[in-house]
Amino acid sequence: MKTRRKFIKESLTLAAASQLPLNLNATNMEKTIEPVVISTWRHGLPANEASWKILDIGGKAIDAVEAGVRVVESDPNTRSVGLGGLPDRDGNVTLDACIMDETSNAGAVCFLQNIENPISVARLVMDKTPHVMLAGEGAFRFAIESGFKKTNLLTEASKKDWKKWTETSDYKPVINIENHDTIGLLALDKNGDLSGACTTSGLAYKMHGRVGDSPIIGAGLFVDNETGAATATGMGELVMKTIGSFLVVELMRQGATPQEACEEAVMRIVKKLDYKDLQVGYLALNKKGEIGAYAVHPGFNYALMKQAENKMYDAISYVKS
Ligand code: ASP
Repeated sequence: MKTRRKFIKESLTLAAASQLPLNLNATNMEKTIEPVVISTWRHGLPANEASWKILDIGGKAIDAVEAGVRVVESDPNTRSVGLGGLPDRDGNVTLDACIMDETSNAGAVCFLQNIENPISVARLVMDKTPHVMLAGEGAFRFAIESGFKKTNLLTEASKKDWKKWTETSDYKPVINIENHDTIGLLALDKNGDLSGACTTSGLAYKMHGRVGDSPIIGAGLFVDNETGAATATGMGELVMKTIGSFLVVELMRQGATPQEACEEAVMRIVKKLDYKDLQVGYLALNKKGEIGAYAVHPGFNYALMKQAENKMYDAISYVKS
């Protein structure tokens, strides 16, 4: 019969032996992982570049996704994100954003006004508070207390378009036109970790107080570091009703490729909801660096950067033309 001491000694030796090859594998894997960054729409190109600078030198995916989307938030010529975003029907630019890291930690802000980089406020909600989401005035106060500057986000160009819109006040979001251009960005770093960020001024001329899918963890963005990450753009109401990004990641967890997962998530919309005049697009990225992209209607495109090459691609779609 084994003595207790002998039993413990043998177990420890076995455990040590079984861990050795694993560690070696992990080290080998680290050496071969190629970073990948993928993001929605054409403004994804400069966002990817900013993310790549961090990924390329071995930085963390969470820092890369934040740095990437900040570029788009601060660009006044992007009329659907951050500074210069088109306002709600009362002329207020209200912003939604969320961020999620490889430890399943997440932060979000919604209905935030007068702050240029909501993604960085979302990051601070994640890093410095016991909460996941802050809204409206509370989010603004937290931002100011954290050192962010109050900024008027309604540029002359956006004000002019909004004034023109008030002449008819006809609320009819147009597929793929600028009121549909959230930036959702996903990254895989050299360590093999995934993170994502999503930020928007939401639908142009929405009702005051309307919040879309983009700041909702599971809807506009979801990351599961064991499996993959996903993000959404388009009519947030459809994404929220189907918990789109969570669905894409969950399907990947069950064995779907990123492409299959995006297609199935779009099919949920097509089967259950009125999608005729509404666009939704999904992007997915898995642990192996494989990507997926699919939309309800044609016209959704995305920027993909890998091996230092940054290019635009057209996503395929359920509706063919
Ligand atoms: N998903 C965003 C929202 O519904 C808008 C967009 O992506 O265009 O607020």
